[in-house]
Amino acid sequence: MFVTALADLLFPKRCLGCGRFGDYFCKSCQRKIKKVGFQICPICERAAISGATHPKCRSPLSLDGLIAPYVYNSPLKEVIAAFKYKYIEQLSTLLTDLLLSSEQFKTFSFADFILVPIPLHKWRENKRGFNQAEKIAAIIAKKKKLREEDFLSKVKNTPPQVQLKGKARKKNILGAFKVLDRKKVVGGSVLLVDDVWTTGSTIKVACAALKRAGAIQVWAAVLAR
Ligand SMILES: [Zn+2]
Ligand SMILES: [Zn+2]
Repeated sequence: MFVTALADLLFPKRCLGCGRFGDYFCKSCQRKIKKVGFQICPICERAAISGATHPKCRSPLSLDGLIAPYVYNSPLKEVIAAFKYKYIEQLSTLLTDLLLSSEQFKTFSFADFILVPIPLHKWRENKRGFNQAEKIAAIIAKKKKLREEDFLSKVKNTPPQVQLKGKARKKNILGAFKVLDRKKVVGGSVLLVDDVWTTGSTIKVACAALKRAGAIQVWAAVLAR
């Protein structure tokens, strides 16, 4: 308790959205978070009921659906970006609670799903000291009493996707993931966890690796798109 009070005194909390002192994500910024107008199919990105992949968009290695309840814009965008580079426990709980309290997440049927965070390459993880997707997945696992596994490994250290465009992004991550323990994947259902959905290319490649290893069903859950 004393340590926390001292830390607050030395490093006062500041809202990562607006800069106001008092909290990492102030109430007024939280109120600005927008829910998406409709759920999309992760393949064609057109409207789809509950985010399930359209039957006509399906292919053997494709995602089966996407949970992405919020719009990726200011101030949520700044808060997520800050969270990527600086680990703040309170913030990871807050962001995960946002995801958990969304209608789409609440209505998703999780029975037998294994949570798998999108991994960072070890080199990048060491540099940052943590993986934000792993933090989110761990909190979901604890609160929803689900199994979390990190049997997906990033074997290629790819440049950050944000620095690349379209085709280069796709090329950048092909073969980037390896499934470490195939026995745990065969016949299973996986919920891939990451912070945001931009082009979805990283998540799609991770999904393909899991399906090649024998996963029957793979959904992805992110905070925003
Ligand atoms: Zn604020
Ligand atoms: Zn579609």
